[in-house]
Amino acid sequence: MAAALTGLESWDPLLVEAIKNTQPGTIVRWKLSLRNPQPKWTSAGGHIVQVGDAAHSLLPTSANGAAMALEDSVSLTECLRLGDKEGVAVATKVHQVLRYQRTALIQHCGFVNRRELHNPSMKEVTERGNAFLFYGKWLWQHNAEKYATANFEAAEY
Ligand SMILES: Cc1cc2nc3c(=O)[nH]c(=O)nc-3n(C[C@H](O)[C@H](O)[C@H](O)COP(=O)(O)OP(=O)(O)OC[C@H]3O[C@@H](n4cnc5c(N)ncnc54)[C@H](O)[C@@H]3O)c2cc1C
Repeated sequence: MAAALTGLESWDPLLVEAIKNTQPGTIVRWKLSLRNPQPKWTSAGGHIVQVGDAAHSLLPTSANGAAMALEDSVSLTECLRLGDKEGVAVATKVHQVLRYQRTALIQHCGFVNRRELHNPSMKEVTERGNAFLFYGKWLWQHNAEKYATANFEAAEY
């Protein structure tokens, strides 16, 4: 397999070693399947809810799938706290309302970032300064727990 790759001398030797020691027939081609934003994360009764990639699968080029899964967990926890025992079914649905647009936008960013990163001219990309064009404070400074606290009551589900 290593013989099929060119320019290995510029690679990290550990990586080259790993490739050379990989036995034939042991590689799984883990195909990335693109998904449109899923419109419904909860069961009809609101007692089952999907979070993380199950709710909004992200391309690796979103570079935020784990971050979004963690945000989901704090948002859902806060919604369940605010909904209390009687409001569990409502809380899960409100959680989706509060999370849907943000995660859908980051899904979309994954497509844009991928296009940039696959640009045949990396020179062009680096001259522009950043392959992750749309990322900034809106992404990094979001506090999913505080957002849920502030918007739970007003959310229409
Ligand atoms: C190449 C690559 C690069 C990435 N880079 C970044 C990055 O820079 N930053 C970032 O934030 N995210 C990144 N991500 C995305 C991130 O890894 C995922 O979005 C995140 O792991 C999703 O977490 P999750 O808990 O929703 O799902 P997963 O981490 O997929 O967890 C699901 C778990 O469920 C288990 N499971 C599946 N079926 C069953 C079953 N029937 N019964 C029991 N268990 C089951 C699986 O084994 C798995 O352990 C990257 C992903 C890839 C592939």
